[in-house]
Amino acid sequence: MKIIAIGRNYAEHAKELNNPVPSVPVIFMKPDTALLKDNKPFYHPEFSQDVHHEIEIVLKVSKEGKHISEKFAANYFEEIALGIDFTARDIQTKHKEKGLPWELAKAFDGSAPVSNFVPKSQFANMYNISFNLDINGETRQQGNTKDLLFSFERIIAFVSQYITLKKGDLIFTGTPQGVAKVNIGDRLEGFLEGEKLLDFYVK
Ligand code: MG
Repeated sequence: MKIIAIGRNYAEHAKELNNPVPSVPVIFMKPDTALLKDNKPFYHPEFSQDVHHEIEIVLKVSKEGKHISEKFAANYFEEIALGIDFTARDIQTKHKEKGLPWELAKAFDGSAPVSNFVPKSQFANMYNISFNLDINGETRQQGNTKDLLFSFERIIAFVSQYITLKKGDLIFTGTPQGVAKVNIGDRLEGFLEGEKLLDFYVK
């Protein structure tokens, strides 16, 4: 199982970090050891003083495919979830300045909490799904899939030109604006169309 993540897929988030809005998807990966399930606590790593939350819609790949055309890409995922793409922003900033890869900032243990999955058939329109992240009871990030720069189908088509997608792979599809630091003791709650799917603590 691999985790593929898309960076800068909501224009307002790209802008808040002073990044250009991309013309092709920005891709990075996390290993399976990043996965955190069942609302288990996230243990804040000691190597960073600025771990940011990024709430994202996560797709679960339902069958193997490569060179998938955008037209058929919707057949390659049946369920979606909420995830947090935890990012050591201090490390990422240093690596970006030097043109180095982002793995140390993005791929560390526990950096990918993922909720239970829900069938996509539950949603009338995949491009009008709202989601939000509350921290200690206060809404910090609010997004809607209508604001995606690259659609789920475009992401699947793009990634599968380079990397074979396998059943069970996860795709983090990017975060809306409002990313900020988490602190030990914080309670994170993630809602998909008002339904709470994520609820865990930073320890
Ligand atoms: Mg992200």
